[in-house]
Amino acid sequence: MDYKYNLAKLQNDKEKIEQLIASQSQRIGSIFPKSLEQEFCSKHLERARKHVEKYVWGGVLSYFIFLLIMIPTDYWIADPQYFLHDFILCLLGLLNGAISLVLFYLAASLPKLKRFFSQASMILVFWLLVSISYINMSMQAESLQHQSMAIMTIIYILGYILTGIKPVQMLITGLMAALTTILLLLSMAVVFNPLVFGRILVGSCLLGYVISHMIFARERMIFLYSRRAKISEKIQRIHTTELLHLSQHDELTKISNRRTLDETLDVFFRQAQCNESALAILFIDVDFFKNYNDYYGHQKGDDVISSIALTIKNAIRHMDFVARYGGEEFVVLLPETDAHGAYAVASNIFKAIDRLRIPHEKSHISDQITISLGITVYRSEENLDKDSLLQIADQALYRAKQLGRNQIYYQSIRSVNAGMVNS
Ligand code: GH3
Ligand code: MG
Ligand code: MG
Repeated sequence: MDYKYNLAKLQNDKEKIEQLIASQSQRIGSIFPKSLEQEFCSKHLERARKHVEKYVWGGVLSYFIFLLIMIPTDYWIADPQYFLHDFILCLLGLLNGAISLVLFYLAASLPKLKRFFSQASMILVFWLLVSISYINMSMQAESLQHQSMAIMTIIYILGYILTGIKPVQMLITGLMAALTTILLLLSMAVVFNPLVFGRILVGSCLLGYVISHMIFARERMIFLYSRRAKISEKIQRIHTTELLHLSQHDELTKISNRRTLDETLDVFFRQAQCNESALAILFIDVDFFKNYNDYYGHQKGDDVISSIALTIKNAIRHMDFVARYGGEEFVVLLPETDAHGAYAVASNIFKAIDRLRIPHEKSHISDQITISLGITVYRSEENLDKDSLLQIADQALYRAKQLGRNQIYYQSIRSVNAGMVNS
């Protein structure tokens, strides 16, 4: 009962996801259990990486527009007294940004670097924050120094949004970059106000953290909803397959039921007509089974029916078909099989049932369970429909019963047709 196990597991998984959805609604952004959290984070990171890869030209265009704005305005803002020094530093800063963006793209797209995307992103954000701060704070013109504050904020926020790195990891990276920048500026004796600059750095870092935390919380919900939808779909699929299976199979023996026999006979019959090939039908009935039931009880009777079904199934080829026709009667369809072949299969089944050695004290012909078996073979040239074919096989079984049971009887279609013509 594999499907029942799967179904129970899926339902259990679905309940867990529903609990997580409820807890996310109560406490926004709360962490998932370990393995789910890992899956969520790696999916989130992978999506961010793919976005970088996919929207590279959008990024190039944005940076180009940024350059178009920055270069002329820097040129205009730069103090004439220190023009060369400051303007060169501005260009250096912009070049640094461009190179970092190219490296960021390479880390996202080169097969060998892809798996280091998060580490590469953190290093690049760290580098950009430190280098751009240092370059801007080294400028002489105060107005250019001020603009570095805005650039810092942008780098922080882009770092949080574009990289897909966990907010906490990015917070640590950002704070370390802020500390390093301030220490670097102090050690290089750059003139700046550490309080104002530090405040901007830490403030931007925290702002980025809050924004990224909110984005992560929303992503968590989307992740849970999509997981729940996938599980529901799987459950639905199992239900549909199971319903189909139930409608096609017999509950007791698990082999095909009469409805499936009708459909399969239809297909085999047409195939035999199209290919002008033979189709053999075996009709099987257990002898004195009513007596068996009365003597051994219905439950034992059910067990016998099941083991006979299994024995027949094991005695036929993969391409053949067996169905429980009703009660203790079975029908076997043997495509592309002539009378000789059909007789060989019938005797295999007959011997296999004999080997079961199921005691039957109330049988009038043996001390164990026996079967009677009727055979007929359809050849496409024969002019009859599939229901008549089944009837002839049933007649063959009837003759086997009449002749004393525990035997195989072959009824040719031609003899039946001739009989019908004569009468
Ligand atoms: P015969 O040799 O002429 O076939 O004699 P029989 O007693 O087997 O006669 P028949 O085939 O008509 O009997 C069918 C019996 O099978 C009737 C019923 O007691 C039993 N039977 C039918 N369906 C089931 C079932 O699902 N479970 C059990 N245990 N018995 C069944
Ligand atoms: Mg019977
Ligand atoms: Mg019967």
